[in-house]
Amino acid sequence: MKKKEEITAIMDNDFEKLLSQTNQLVEFQNGEIKCRICHCQMTLDNVGIIIPVCEPEGTPHLEFVCNNPNCLTAK
Ligand SMILES: [Zn+2]
Repeated sequence: MKKKEEITAIMDNDFEKLLSQTNQLVEFQNGEIKCRICHCQMTLDNVGIIIPVCEPEGTPHLEFVCNNPNCLTAK
């Protein structure tokens, strides 16, 4: 049980690092990051898929899909 908590903590840490690299950490903390399918608010508990988006003329950012099975299969 204790081991599982440690793994989760590391994942959260990496996740925040990812978000800060794309300047989305504040957005995430403010609840402004939404699932791209159902537009629900993303939290650390419902992140299903993280999609890095690199547009030629935009800044790289991350898009998110929640862990709702309908969203995970919709892509
Ligand atoms: Zn969703």
